[in-house]
Formats: sequence, C-alpha cells, structure tokens
Amino acid sequence: MNKKELFEKFHEIATHPETLMKRYIDEGKPVVLVAPVYTPEEIIHSMGCVPMGAWGADIQLNEAKRYFPAFICSIVQSILELGMKGVYKGASALVVPSLCDSLKCLGENWKYGVKDIPFIPMTYPQNRKPGYGHAFTKAGYERLISDLEKAAGKTFDDGALGESIRVYNDHNQAMRDFATIASKHPEVSASERSDVFKSATFMEKSEHTKLVRELIAYITEEEPAKSGTRILISGILADSPALNDIIDELGFTIAADDVAAQSRQYTVDAPDKAGNESNLDALVNKFCNMDNCSVLYDPDKKRVNMITNKAAFAEAQGVVVILTKFCDPEEFDYPLIKKACDERGLPCVLIEVDRQMENMEQARTMLQALKEMI
Ligand code: SF4
Repeated sequence: MNKKELFEKFHEIATHPETLMKRYIDEGKPVVLVAPVYTPEEIIHSMGCVPMGAWGADIQLNEAKRYFPAFICSIVQSILELGMKGVYKGASALVVPSLCDSLKCLGENWKYGVKDIPFIPMTYPQNRKPGYGHAFTKAGYERLISDLEKAAGKTFDDGALGESIRVYNDHNQAMRDFATIASKHPEVSASERSDVFKSATFMEKSEHTKLVRELIAYITEEEPAKSGTRILISGILADSPALNDIIDELGFTIAADDVAAQSRQYTVDAPDKAGNESNLDALVNKFCNMDNCSVLYDPDKKRVNMITNKAAFAEAQGVVVILTKFCDPEEFDYPLIKKACDERGLPCVLIEVDRQMENMEQARTMLQALKEMI
C-alpha cells in the first residue's frame, strides 16, 4: 500500500470497526470489548481473543437514557446505547475498568441493558505504588482471567502472556514513534493522526504495528511541510471529525498530545520480569508504574507539570484542553493545568465536547482566539 492507501485504511477501520469485528469473529477469534482505559489487553490477547476498544460513538442517545441520568459522560452512555442496539452482537464479553465513577456505573447498567454479552469488571486499586497495591492489582488480573476463561472458553498461559506483552510493547513503541514523526511532519493532518490512533483501539496489535511502521517509513522519506501553529492537545478523546477539521482548517499542527485515547495509553511498557516474577507480575508492574493521568490517583498532580514540560519539549505554542462533558477526573485537573500554563506564558484554551455535539462553532471561536493569543 502507498501512503494514501494506508491513511484510507486507517480511516476505514476507525469509522467502520464493525467490519473488522465481523472478520475476527468469522476467523474464529473471540472479540472481547474493552472500555477505556488501561484494561490489561495483553491478558485478553494472550488467551487467543481480540481486544477491541469500546469508547462509544457519535450517536443520539435514546435507550441508554433509561439507565443513565443526563449528567454523565457521553462515552459511557454511548457504549451502553451501542450495546442495547445490538451493535456489539457476537462479542464474548465487555471488560470495564473501575477507574472513574461513570465507568463503575456502566458495568452495573450493562448487566441489565445488554444481557447477551457478559460484563467483566476490572477492579483497580487507588494506591497502586505500595506492595498492597501490586497485590490488589494482581488479584484483579486473576479475577479477569477466571471470568474470561468462562466467557470466551479459553485458557490462560503465562508463557503466552510473555509473547503478548512483547506484541503490545512493540505497538506502544510504534505509536510513540508515529506521534513523534507526525509532530515533525505537519502535512499529517489532525484527522489523519486521529484515524491512526483510533484504528489502534480496534485492530489486533501486531497487525496495526505493521501498518503504522509502513506509514512511518513513507513519512520519514518526505521533506516536512512548513509547520503550522504548534499545539498540545489534552483530554480523554480527540476523535471528533468536525473538531479535527477545524484544527486543520485553522492551520494548527498537533505537536504532542496528552489524550487518553491517543498517546497517554502508550507511554508505559510492561518491564522485563525480574527474578522469580511471572509475566503476570510484569504486567502488574506496568500498571503500577503508570502516572500522569487524570484517572490515576496522583496527590501531587504530577500530570500538570508533565503537560507543560511535554509542550515545551515539543515546541508547542499553546495548549488545547478538549474536555469531555461531565468527566469529573478531567474537570478537577483543568484549573491546575490552566494555572501552570499561565505561569509559563503558554496560552491555554478549554473546549468542551460530547458525543452528541453537532455544532462545533464554539470550538472554532476558541481556536481562533488561541491563534490570536499566540
Ligand atoms: S470520559 Fe471521564 S467520566 Fe467518562 S469514562 Fe472517561 S474518565 Fe470516566
């Protein structure tokens, strides 16, 4: 495939994951849906299943309103809506991590609203650094394994997990490399960049790594276009086609991101196992080593400095916080991010989004204002 065909392929997967899901099921590979964020996909992958991201979609909410109040984030509402409408039919299970209050409610509502796809909870500790945090995380992974064995009829093998860890670490590196090269090549539009990240949540990771590596090789060969106004974007999601079109129309280049659905999830690899450790222990260490995320307990709010440092390193001239409406963890962090940016003289704007937003003109105004400030 040439570069254009690769971008078209990423776009096709990002916009029609149901085709890919059908293919995997037809090939005899059980599909396990994984809600955001930090589900240990390596375990699911090692058991011969395909983890597919369930981050909701830009759809009208009807059925989900029977279970959720209006003031809850549209990601969890639209996941339930898709489940109730039968879009995920054929999936073997839905795994939901317990990292925010909305996600905790999703699993309980799913049990009543979508009876043909089992819900598997992935319970994480708040304090993940001390020994008891490791033990709690490991117990959560063991519970996940036992539930998956029942739901997908597969067995767990620690050696196979080691191989899946390698596949995921390779993919993490490919995505980090893509973010770096896209930052240096402004001809990669925000929409194309978003498609590459979004397709990663749906595709089996070794397949996706291969395509991303091919794309990186093409981009590397080219002379970079003249850079636009460089921004760092931060938030949970940044996949709105309308918003990405505005970012492109106004001539911004995404210099770096702190987006949970994009680079944030690829920051930390599972380390090599030490001594008598199992591969499962190595995966536990991966989660316990994670930091700098609104849904991970962070009393010192190290994430705030990480964002300004990352912006400086990537030579970003401004920060755009893309806040998913009713997302408490992100709302709590925003005033601190804004204050830190102000102290560093870095213009920072807030754009509130949800999955039902049809008109992005307020976002356009905010981005135009940012451009003028820069
Ligand atoms: S967007 Fe926020 S509230 Fe919604 S699932 Fe993610 S972390 Fe939770």
